[in-house]
Amino acid sequence: MVRVHIGLGSNLDSPQRQLHEALQALAALPDTTLAAVSSFYTSDSLLPGQPRYSNAVAALDTGLAPLPLLDALQAIENEQGRERAERWGPRTLDLDIITYADRVIDEPRLQVPHYHLQARAFVLYPLAEVVEEGFMLADGRSLRELLAACPFAGLERL
Ligand code: ATP
Ligand code: MG
Ligand code: MG
Repeated sequence: MVRVHIGLGSNLDSPQRQLHEALQALAALPDTTLAAVSSFYTSDSLLPGQPRYSNAVAALDTGLAPLPLLDALQAIENEQGRERAERWGPRTLDLDIITYADRVIDEPRLQVPHYHLQARAFVLYPLAEVVEEGFMLADGRSLRELLAACPFAGLERL
């Protein structure tokens, strides 16, 4: 079993309900335990004209390998009505692998740590709630330093 962190996001069809449903689906994955869940946060979309987002981060202990985990996350997204009409379009559910144990992964379908982590307060602040003090990413960056460089501004903790 390894510890992984999943970023959850939704801005369509009752976002907070979507996150709750997704957490139940994550807890039900084979070979997987839901170890911790952050608070829920809301923030305006980075792209204009989209509804406000709700986000959270979950810590899982899983025996699933990275690509089977990604497949399972995409199945949950599809189950909850995710449509992929446009990149970064509004969505019922987005599940991203933020970290996977101490692994750096650079494959066509999967890059871990998540490539845009450092720019996303709605990932960094909830992540900080579910990791230990002094948490380091697999590529050697410290979460504390990433937080210091990424203002909380615009984020609302529920
Ligand atoms: P962003 O990646 O900027 O957060 P997004 O989450 O909206 O955008 P998606 O449409 O959910 O993007 O996913 C597009 C593709 O990203 C997926 O098909 C998947 O193969 C790939 N991908 C690469 N790295 C990851 C990761 N760490 N977690 C989830 N998907 C990833
Ligand atoms: Mg995403
Ligand atoms: Mg995604």
